Amino acid sequence: MKIFNTLSRRKEEFVPLEPGKVKMYVCGPTVYNYIHIGNARPMIIFDTVRRYFEYKGYDVNYVSNFTDVDDKIINKANEEGVDASVISERFIAECKKDMAGLNVKPATTHPQATQEIPGMLDMISTLIEKGHAYAAEDGTVYFRTSSFKEYGKLSHKNLDELQSGFREIKVTGEEGKESAADFVLWKPKKEGEPYWDSPWCQGRPGWHIECSVMAKRYLGDEIDIHAGGEDLIFPHHENEIAQSECANGKPFAKYWMHNGFLNIDNKKMSKSLNNFFTVREISEKYDLQVLRFFMLSAHYRSPLNFSAELMEASRNGLERIRTAAEKLRELEGRAKDQGSGNTGTGTAASGDGAMLEAEAAGAMTKAETAGAMTEAETAGVTQAKELVAKFEAAMDDDFNTADAVSAIFELVKLSNSTADENSSKAYVTYLKETIEKLCGVMGIVTEVKAEALDEEIEALIQARQQARKEKNYALADEIRGRLSGMGIILEDTREGVKWKRA
Ligand code: AMP
Ligand code: ZN
Repeated sequence: MKIFNTLSRRKEEFVPLEPGKVKMYVCGPTVYNYIHIGNARPMIIFDTVRRYFEYKGYDVNYVSNFTDVDDKIINKANEEGVDASVISERFIAECKKDMAGLNVKPATTHPQATQEIPGMLDMISTLIEKGHAYAAEDGTVYFRTSSFKEYGKLSHKNLDELQSGFREIKVTGEEGKESAADFVLWKPKKEGEPYWDSPWCQGRPGWHIECSVMAKRYLGDEIDIHAGGEDLIFPHHENEIAQSECANGKPFAKYWMHNGFLNIDNKKMSKSLNNFFTVREISEKYDLQVLRFFMLSAHYRSPLNFSAELMEASRNGLERIRTAAEKLRELEGRAKDQGSGNTGTGTAASGDGAMLEAEAAGAMTKAETAGAMTEAETAGVTQAKELVAKFEAAMDDDFNTADAVSAIFELVKLSNSTADENSSKAYVTYLKETIEKLCGVMGIVTEVKAEALDEEIEALIQARQQARKEKNYALADEIRGRLSGMGIILEDTREGVKWKRA
């Protein structure tokens, strides 16, 4: 398996630190609003990476944080006159709903920065003791970048150039820095901000230290993979490396993976440019599986431009896979339990001996050995296996999901052209299981739940209207989310609420 490592700028063979295990940390969102679909890109991509490792038999420890203390959260809390934790808890809950809609598995651990302050104080103290950090007069603690000779190794930047670049930028409150490229580990509180006691001043942590501490606590000093969007390479990940390697005295992450941007009109989708769609907004127009499928249609390191046309193409592609899977399920239900429904000549596994041998060699699935197949079906299985190999080769090559999806389409084509009422149950089951297994790696669900009855939908819409009347917007949103999960799109019009199926 090869992974493009930002550290070396090369594809490298994946060798886990511990055989059979993957320790993986993915930087999560700052929770002050609904996540936008740019934030959803790393979630979907690295969830797919995780699923592929699991498919390969690895035990994956997947940690992804929520940044729950930050200027934007504090500003929003002050606007609403509530505690910062009210804002962060609200949007963590909303983010988890969106993740569920996108079929992103919950992480093994979702740590939150505000719950990890003792670990941060420990790491900062260690860095000071080792001479890698210092406290300024006002109690701000800075990382001393000049003390880490390898600073810049991830972003391939040179410290001297960085220092002269930063010299021009004066940040208010950061006058106590020894050098322009030093960065904050701990900062004093300001009026109206949450704060914690520390040996240096009452205050709060800098952003970078959170991830170093959470990765250490939940995964250990050395981890296999650290990931996030490419905007995090500098300074966030560069600074994480400096902190972790100086504090722990060990290399931090072996492989650094970064996804390209999700763009809109070829500009990065971001809150600051106000050119974003939230996942919630998209869920009102599309089944979120379409969004997931869209994200997987490009290589994760390439930029991806969001457009209605590409979403339409994704909707059609997904539909094609689902229709094929549905047909296979139907055929499977109809086929007799044993043997082929027809009387084709020649069988793949004739006689118990052959079956046992094949099973022992692990070469065949249960479906294959459940009954005899015709010669044509055996040839179909061989073709399907080649396509599985193609899928794996694509994923083994730095998670080329675009090519992996093409292999799934080829399987669909094979199924459409070879499976019908005359097929053996064994063959139909084999194709169905294969398509489902590969779609499962992509986090794509092939079975759409039975359509909800109109009355059920109307009742939910009524309940949402009632919740809105009572100003219980959280409940109203939750109901909208449920309806969206059922593939129902709501439209608030002057004549009232209209709905349609996605
Ligand atoms: P943030 O909440 O801005 O810290 O972002 C959370 C994650 O989303 C990080 O891994 C970012 O790199 C990633 N991200 C933010 N915007 C985009 C975008 N437009 N395209 C791809 N990834 C993004
Ligand atoms: Zn991080």
